[in-house]
Amino acid sequence: MNCGDCLENLDSYLDRELTDAELSEVQRHMADCPPCEDLYKLHVNMKRLVKVCCDQGEAPAHLRSKLRQILF
Ligand SMILES: [Zn+2]
Repeated sequence: MNCGDCLENLDSYLDRELTDAELSEVQRHMADCPPCEDLYKLHVNMKRLVKVCCDQGEAPAHLRSKLRQILF
């Protein structure tokens, strides 16, 4: 797996939509590739932030759309 494959799978990985085989490939890649791991951690934090904001309905619309742009 290269960085492109890893990033392509990142969203599915975060949503736990990967097969076990894909999952372990992503994990193996990130173990060897700090930049991808950093990106993964960033996505996790962003997703958590978006979820909190959206659940509480407190995030201003422009902030939510900005976060969506970054995430999706
Ligand atoms: Zn990588």
